[in-house]
Amino acid sequence: SAKWARAMAIIKDFEERCGTPLARLKQVADAMTVEMHAGLASEGGSKLKMLISYVDNLPTGNEKGLFYALDLGGTNFRVLRVQLGGKDGGIAHQEFAEVSIPQDLMVGTSDALFDYIAAELSKFVAQEGQDFQLPPGRQRELGFTFSFPVGQDVVAELTRALERQGYQHGVGSSHLPLTEYDHSLDAESLNPGEQVFEKLISGMYLGEVVRRVLCRVAEEVSLFGDTVPPKLRIPFILRTPHMSAMHHDTSPDLKVVAEKLRDILEIPNSSLKARKLIVQLCDVVATRGARLAAAGILGILKKLGRETTKEGENQKTVIALDGGLYEHYSAYSNCLETTIAELLGEKVSESIVIEHSNDGSGIGAALLAASHSQYI
Ligand code: ADP
Ligand code: MG
Repeated sequence: SAKWARAMAIIKDFEERCGTPLARLKQVADAMTVEMHAGLASEGGSKLKMLISYVDNLPTGNEKGLFYALDLGGTNFRVLRVQLGGKDGGIAHQEFAEVSIPQDLMVGTSDALFDYIAAELSKFVAQEGQDFQLPPGRQRELGFTFSFPVGQDVVAELTRALERQGYQHGVGSSHLPLTEYDHSLDAESLNPGEQVFEKLISGMYLGEVVRRVLCRVAEEVSLFGDTVPPKLRIPFILRTPHMSAMHHDTSPDLKVVAEKLRDILEIPNSSLKARKLIVQLCDVVATRGARLAAAGILGILKKLGRETTKEGENQKTVIALDGGLYEHYSAYSNCLETTIAELLGEKVSESIVIEHSNDGSGIGAALLAASHSQYI
């Protein structure tokens, strides 16, 4: 029917605009490398923040004792404690707690946010058990890591001033396959024009992109009946874990898709055709995200000079990935891995290992607290 032809045309058009051929990914990677250099060369030199980490020595493996870490992600934060065993002792014990950040705090003052974090952290410390031992006379030490740039205001001011000058910024947003849905998502986000790359690749946004396209199809071709289901109009109602569950639905009648539509979007009945369209849409959005994430990783490898192997050298590179998206969304992680291999070629790929590093960011922060301990 004409209705279906129109629905398929919308998806096909979206798919074309989401295209990530290798040549384009290489441009994204190069732009990433260029921006990293620019960001290091001068403050405000790039929209890609290259913030000073104040890390001047790396862990040796001999660190010993109890250390805390705070990993502030996009959606939640995790507090961890690790008991380090010293030389050859590794991590003797580790525990974590995960806390979601209430929406009002994400848009509120930094004071309110940090008060909240401090309160949750002290609750966690109060639950410290016998497995963890703080030597007498020592204070607990904490490392922290943020998944987003937290700079000084002066950096923001300078960046804005440079933008007013029409200065070229960003991870080559000219190379990014942005669609109208991405533009509207960005414009309505808490940080328009910022972290545009993350808005294409990260778990916080993938489900929302799917929702936006689906909403358009529902409007234009009455995919779910004469009116657009009201829930479908609510931003961020469709989360990436829902998307992932639908994408991985292998049942012949797509019953997981039907179930998510019913439970989350309150769409009681949906045709198999409509459900198939949704799986295809999830695939387009996840594939674009995963392939661009791979390009970002290539950008970092280039910055480190590890995108090639040198004759006679037995170089090995480990890429550690943390986070629920990579851990749970296998269509995404598989695509990311194959794309990295495609980008690097067979030879270099052999020198690269990709590891899922559960809580790697947080543990890294704890190790840095240890290697910067005031007691060493
Ligand atoms: P962050 O560091 O951004 O707070 P986390 O590392 O805690 O994120 O992981 C949470 C992210 O993982 C969320 O954005 C969520 O969408 C994604 N995620 C969690 N579970 C799944 C899943 N089953 N499928 C796909 N994505 C998931
Ligand atoms: Mg994280």
